[in-house]
Amino acid sequence: MLDILFKNCTIIDPFNRVETKADLLIEGGRITGLERDITPRDGIKTINLQGRWVVPGLVDIHTHLREPGEEYKETILTGLKSAVAGGFTTVCAMPNTRPPNDSASVTRFIIGRARECNLGRVLPVATITKAQKGTELTEFGDLLSAGAVAFSDDGLPVKNSRIMRLALEYALNFDALIISHSEDLELARHGVMNEGRMSTTLGLMGIPNAAEDIQVYRDVRLAETTGARLHIAHVSTKEAVEIIRSAKRRGVRVTCETAPHYFSLTEEAVEGYNTLAKMNPPLRTEEDREAIIEGLRDGTIDCIATDHAPHSTLEKECEFEKAANGIIGLETAVPLGLRLVKKGVLSPMQLVELMTVGPCKVIGLEKGGVRPGELADLTVIDPECAFHVTPQNLCSKSHNSPFLGETLEGRAVITLFEGRCVFDLHGMVS
Ligand SMILES: [Zn+2]
Repeated sequence: MLDILFKNCTIIDPFNRVETKADLLIEGGRITGLERDITPRDGIKTINLQGRWVVPGLVDIHTHLREPGEEYKETILTGLKSAVAGGFTTVCAMPNTRPPNDSASVTRFIIGRARECNLGRVLPVATITKAQKGTELTEFGDLLSAGAVAFSDDGLPVKNSRIMRLALEYALNFDALIISHSEDLELARHGVMNEGRMSTTLGLMGIPNAAEDIQVYRDVRLAETTGARLHIAHVSTKEAVEIIRSAKRRGVRVTCETAPHYFSLTEEAVEGYNTLAKMNPPLRTEEDREAIIEGLRDGTIDCIATDHAPHSTLEKECEFEKAANGIIGLETAVPLGLRLVKKGVLSPMQLVELMTVGPCKVIGLEKGGVRPGELADLTVIDPECAFHVTPQNLCSKSHNSPFLGETLEGRAVITLFEGRCVFDLHGMVS
């Protein structure tokens, strides 16, 4: 267990509404001191953090770990390595693995593997329907007892509105959370990027905003009529933000997330048939991007989730139409979020909130934050550290990032989980 004294920290802890300059003492893995000036002691290593941020371990509620079944893209171990390198100590594992997580045995397998890896917390999300076929509901009670924290057919929508309604009614019995991948498949069919000026220029089939908006509205209405808890995944359109904003005003139990790429990039990134900018929902327009940022600013969007979706070069180095959807995101989420802080759109506290308290509230996870008595589960962020995004510098098994080759500013440099150091970029702790 770790003994360490961090001097000159900028503590940003939205769990305890604390933003202050302080020293932080950790003994036996537990936070024992948080004061303006702590005197170094014998036998305890002292590190001067020089104003770097100390925040609660980040939480990502949308991660594709690919195990079981597609271990050539990512495993629970490499996914966790990528998570802690990005500052995340908790990730929710999406269920579209092979086989999908539609039974208690798969849920237990994921939890067991994560425990063996012992790097971070993995909370499995189970499917809503068996084999994600959209026809028969899974055993919510069994899956919850096995450790599932929510239900989603992510990767696919629940196409049949009646089944979605049944799922929400069923979830209400357990007050369980349904996570919607909102997409009207008929409208999106054959589309490979956003429908608009850019798709016309490139001669590619587009996916209209309406494919997302219509399904978001359907699911919000079903949540409203059933009273169940609904979370909308990866919101990318202006209209979806507005639908959720107005639903929240009416008291509908709806939350939502967006991913860093939707507030960082637009459809322009697809130029040159760049398969690394291919994802679902697709990158939208500047107008949508601005609406997403406004949603983050005014609290309509509850959290930032990465939608970390590893794919091998095989699935990305091919024709645009055939390329797989999705990008890795765990290691670039912090620098992309920091851009919003540097532009003055979000305060440091707001950004950290969107990556800790926000996701915790969505899934009902209790965390203590950075305060004496707690086992250290925290991240040191250096807002200025240059991060060259290269395959060598990424911990994920896959390297499908549209930021490859770029130098981003700021990143997680130290991550502590359960009182142990699980990531240490500059070898400061060990
Ligand atoms: Zn999805």
